[in-house]
Amino acid sequence: MNIHEYQAKALFEKFGVPVPKGAAAKSAEEFDAALGQLADAAIVVKSQIHAGGRGKGTFTDGFKGGVKFCKTKNDAKIVAGKMLGNTLVTIQTGPDGRKVQTVYFTQASDIKKEYYLAILLDRATSRPVIVASTEGGVEIEKVAHDTPEKIFKVHIDPAYGLGDYQIRQLIYALELTPTEGKNATKLIKNLYRMYWETDAAMVEVNPMITTPDDQVLALDAKVSFDANALYRHPEITALRDLAEEDSKEIEASKFNLSYIALDGNIACLVNGAGLAMSTMDIIKHFGGNPANFLDVGGGASKDQVVAAFKIILGDPKVKGIFVNIFGGIMDCNVIATGIVAAVKEVGLSIPLVVRLEGNNVAMGKQALADSGLTIVNGDTMADAAQKIVKLVA
Ligand code: ADP
Ligand code: MG
Repeated sequence: MNIHEYQAKALFEKFGVPVPKGAAAKSAEEFDAALGQLADAAIVVKSQIHAGGRGKGTFTDGFKGGVKFCKTKNDAKIVAGKMLGNTLVTIQTGPDGRKVQTVYFTQASDIKKEYYLAILLDRATSRPVIVASTEGGVEIEKVAHDTPEKIFKVHIDPAYGLGDYQIRQLIYALELTPTEGKNATKLIKNLYRMYWETDAAMVEVNPMITTPDDQVLALDAKVSFDANALYRHPEITALRDLAEEDSKEIEASKFNLSYIALDGNIACLVNGAGLAMSTMDIIKHFGGNPANFLDVGGGASKDQVVAAFKIILGDPKVKGIFVNIFGGIMDCNVIATGIVAAVKEVGLSIPLVVRLEGNNVAMGKQALADSGLTIVNGDTMADAAQKIVKLVA
């Protein structure tokens, strides 16, 4: 689960990670109150969306920059008015962009140098890793690709926690002065404590900055949490912003369906993640494009199948449906009756190819045949995939 920068900064403050003072606003009426909390000096106005690259982004109406420096509070108000409700496109949002529903005013900092700092789980070593670089502010992927020697990593033994010697290694690698180092120590220690205690999946500070008076501050904050641990953190779960999530994915999560929207036009309904992956592969293999990943799970109920079908049919991109079921635990007849019930409820105006195999398959096929619906039968995965690709072409 992702949160906004302004929410992440509030958490940073709670854990003693220094950030510039800031205040968020969700409507133009809130601008004055938010700005009233800040000093009468230069302000940076920041669009709050769940995507990075805002500074270099462009709004769909041509307004440039999702992060803007303003000399006065009055300028900040004008800029915020242009951002709020506008749609920001960045390298991370995709071409459709994201609508800005919150703006964040922060006190502008005097930047001496920008650094990169992140804490995340390294799956290869099963340990948290701190990633740091002197090349902050720009795209870290580019630095990692072009000049990998400028990326420094420290792996942390979760049983011991972050060692002081490891912080010294980081400070040495970042070439900080003694005073900067002292301040960075506090930031890194507290950031790690936050990462650990909140069950974060990733905490990224890009840039972390030094100022002319040797302060060290987190200027940007991107934080995501391990969804499996959210039950332990109701105060973090409360930060979830449904407006930032795909409405189809929210609907699917209500029914415990694993659903991810994709760009193609062939919807897939599959039981089991492995089968879902190979279904997408085989669609691609025969020249088609999957519209989604949808795993109804090993023991889906009829209600789940109906919900899954409704989600699929609610996507205007979908031009055909491929149901691929291997009944191990799953009863093919449950899928079949679910499909029939869903189609009767919402109608079906696009081709549907079904490949059923396994547990109770004869009854399932009978239920489909008896329904009187126009359903194309696929004998094998390859046969079914070829049929659906042809039908949507
Ligand atoms: P994004 O990564 O989405 O582009 P950032 O928060 O990193 O957004 O902002 C982009 C750039 O804007 C930063 O690299 C920094 O140079 C500048 N910036 C952001 N916040 C401030 C601030 N409070 N004071 C001064 N400059 C800032
Ligand atoms: Mg940034």
